[in-house]
Amino acid sequence: MTSMISSEQIIYLDNNATTQLDPAVVEEMLPFLTKYFGNPSSGYQFGSQVRSAIDLARERLAALLGCEPSEIIFTSCGTESNNAAVNSALQLDPARQHIVTTAVEHSATSRHCDALSKRGCLLTTVGVDAEGNLDLDELERAITPQTAIISAMWANNETGVLFPVEKIAEIALRHRVLFHTDAIQVVGKIPIRLADSSINSLSLSAHKLHGPKGVGALYVRKRSAFKPTLIGGSQEQNRRAGTENVASIVALGKAAECATAALAEEATRVRAMRDRFEATVLEKVPETFVNGDRNARLPNTSNLSFGGIDSGAALALLDRNQICCSAGSACRTGSVESSHVLRAMKVSDDRARGSMRFSFGRFNTESEVDRAVEIVPKVISKLRSLSSAGAVREPAGV
Ligand SMILES: *Cc1c(COP(=O)(O)O)cnc(C)c1O
Repeated sequence: MTSMISSEQIIYLDNNATTQLDPAVVEEMLPFLTKYFGNPSSGYQFGSQVRSAIDLARERLAALLGCEPSEIIFTSCGTESNNAAVNSALQLDPARQHIVTTAVEHSATSRHCDALSKRGCLLTTVGVDAEGNLDLDELERAITPQTAIISAMWANNETGVLFPVEKIAEIALRHRVLFHTDAIQVVGKIPIRLADSSINSLSLSAHKLHGPKGVGALYVRKRSAFKPTLIGGSQEQNRRAGTENVASIVALGKAAECATAALAEEATRVRAMRDRFEATVLEKVPETFVNGDRNARLPNTSNLSFGGIDSGAALALLDRNQICCSAGSACRTGSVESSHVLRAMKVSDDRARGSMRFSFGRFNTESEVDRAVEIVPKVISKLRSLSSAGAVREPAGV
């Protein structure tokens, strides 16, 4: 493992993909991997002390979400939470087998819905406009007496665009259908108070808020009926079977506590870094565009399109310069597959091909932004000079 790249060697601008564990989170979880390994369901104190640690984690997460601890179900990841919410809705009433979702969901929702539609569910996918915003009238018109659930993300992982979830929740309530939101990119980034909301269920994932991978949670509003996906033991009040991933749940609780404490300060500081990065790159690099509504966006995300380049090539060149970010288009077996999010926004092929996502977080520094705004423009102009040289050698039409 000596050849592995350590975090000190890189500038990590891919916080929407995953985040660095907060050292306070690591410290809190480690004893549950060593000293306190009891099963929380056991009758003796060595086990029940672990149950208390899970209870504390639930309280800490509830404080971040502004809900009651009993409304939280711990799961194995954000994907499981999204799947479980939709599965539950479909099991509640056999006459309601219609799902309404959006064209820009994460695969944890979209591929699950596609699979369900192959098994006989009806699926309506609501589109977005050029800025990535949802048409609420179109969403409302999609609802039928057969609709079981609306599943729409709160913030888009590629562009950071925020959907008006409170308005969607009102529409859902008016039509008496359930509303689930994938809030995996939102939790820890903007304030949430579920007690004042009529959102029925919400998913989150620890590794997007400086916790470990492989643990998440599903909020289910009290008095909402819920049918579990994982069936077995009576853990999580019979809503999610399987012996609890204790250390990770403890870690998620601590990550939530850290996020609650840091939220206000961080939103300002991270936003300032993102804004300075974006403004400087836009100024230095001609033919650069921001994807997504700049007035309804997460504070940490910048999705930029650089005209005339291939984002896969830019990713590779930035990687060689120790910058980690994400490419909007993925080159698979020779053909370029552009982002489904940008396609739904009807972004031109050239802009989709040249789109890059930079996402900032708690552990980024101003000096990293200084480095990034030096390197990114150099990389883009290098790629542009290479491709214009290529164009001379390969005239159009050849
Ligand atoms: C990361 C992410 C997921 C998947 O979460 P996992 O915990 O990795 O399963 C789902 N939705 C969104 C919006 C995400 O950003």
